[in-house]
Amino acid sequence: NTMNLDALIAELVGLEIITDPTQVAKLSQDYYNFSPVLQPQLAGKKGDLVVRAAGEAEVLRVAAACVKFRVPLTVRGAGTGNYGQCVPLNGGVILDLSSMQAIRWVKPGLACVEPGVKLANLDKKTREIGWEIRMAPSTYRTATIGGFIAGGSGGIGSITYGQLRDRGNLLAVRVVTMEDEPRVIELRGDEVQKVNHAYGVNGIITELEIPLGPAYPWAEWVVSFPDFMTAARFGQTLADSDGIIKKLISIHAWPVPTYFAALRSCIPEGSHCALLMVAESCLESLADLVKEYGGTVCQQKTAQEASHGMPLGEFSWNHTTLHARSVDPSLTYLQTLFPDDKNLKLVEHIYHHFADELMMHLEFFRVGGVARPAALQLVRYTTEARLNEIIAYHEAQGAFIFNPHTYILEDGGMKTINVEQLKFKEMVDPYGLLNPGKMRAWLER
Ligand code: FAD
Repeated sequence: NTMNLDALIAELVGLEIITDPTQVAKLSQDYYNFSPVLQPQLAGKKGDLVVRAAGEAEVLRVAAACVKFRVPLTVRGAGTGNYGQCVPLNGGVILDLSSMQAIRWVKPGLACVEPGVKLANLDKKTREIGWEIRMAPSTYRTATIGGFIAGGSGGIGSITYGQLRDRGNLLAVRVVTMEDEPRVIELRGDEVQKVNHAYGVNGIITELEIPLGPAYPWAEWVVSFPDFMTAARFGQTLADSDGIIKKLISIHAWPVPTYFAALRSCIPEGSHCALLMVAESCLESLADLVKEYGGTVCQQKTAQEASHGMPLGEFSWNHTTLHARSVDPSLTYLQTLFPDDKNLKLVEHIYHHFADELMMHLEFFRVGGVARPAALQLVRYTTEARLNEIIAYHEAQGAFIFNPHTYILEDGGMKTINVEQLKFKEMVDPYGLLNPGKMRAWLER
């Protein structure tokens, strides 16, 4: 209520506070509009004010003030999430951490950073000593590391390093609590899973230790195939080729390439394509593999050339959906993990079964040490009921759906309640003020 908010603002004197309604509304949004199901559910949801914290000490002050006046607090990085993760359901404070951009230190294999560092900036910094971030979402030029850990899952690089949830891909975090007297807790090793991918419902991450991989000069190739399943099988074989160092294997069925304005002219009409990032030293081996599968290299850039213009990564992962929706806003998407099957039988079945209603888009990544295809298939949306039918059909056939049409933490990827995360929330957020409404386990307690 207004009284509490006035008192809260008075308590936060000296901090950067935004109350302009247009600005606050803007900073309450993310990219949930990719989902026609979420659009009506989240439209108009906004915070009462935004506080832009400059460091951990300020975060502690904001946390203490919100606890004192029982005001909800929703953390925001860059607001590029797809499921309304940072959209406040009950108003309150938006805590914007995008100004906390310190890179504390970088050493071989390891970096310590504040949460607001943009992934591309971190990568640039670590490359100075020959290392790079292991994986990044296709939004790496705008997204923050804190938001990636709290709201993302993996992306470019996951073909080598797996997903953020895998042990070793997040080493340590500092977390500010929402107790009567907020404090900082450091979580290391397996303990980090208490807050990893928790949408900021059980702590405010103020510092992270992130593992790095050796930096390679990444060449970018576009390869076309006359037949979709050949493109897909090429992708699987490249994914399984341990001797070829790669960062991206993104496969697109025609007509998806028609949505890629900047690539369209190089991809032959009616062809299916592979977008690849491969270490320059491995290109001869890649060329042999392309030949074996009858592919045609339609564009090739050295790492140097790739550093200008639109990076290939920005056509992959959920950027595919972004480009498609910019041409046809009625399109939406699914996120699917296909079974471990080198013959890709279910991919083939789904590709044919839904014909024009789905446009197939595969991303290869490592799951428990095994390279498998995930799909972010484009869907010609008609109704929510039909979308649910499509999802149910996938599940009945043995595919796993990470539902991008829900803002509830458990209903997206996990499907089950994470007891560790719930227990941690009970301890650090006893009043349930952090990003309320997103954690089913808390709501149904
Ligand atoms: P935000 O959207 O600001 O926040 C995400 C969640 O984390 C929110 O719940 C927020 O409350 C919480 N949070 C943020 N910072 C903190 C913190 N310091 N402490 C606690 N909680 C916090 N995601 C992928 O994983 N892979 C992809 O390839 C990918 N591709 C995308 C492509 C497009 C076109 C779009 C629009 C999105 C894509 N995403 C992808 C989703 C999203 O861009 C990424 O997950 C991104 O890393 C989120 O970072 P952010 O800073 O924007 O986070």
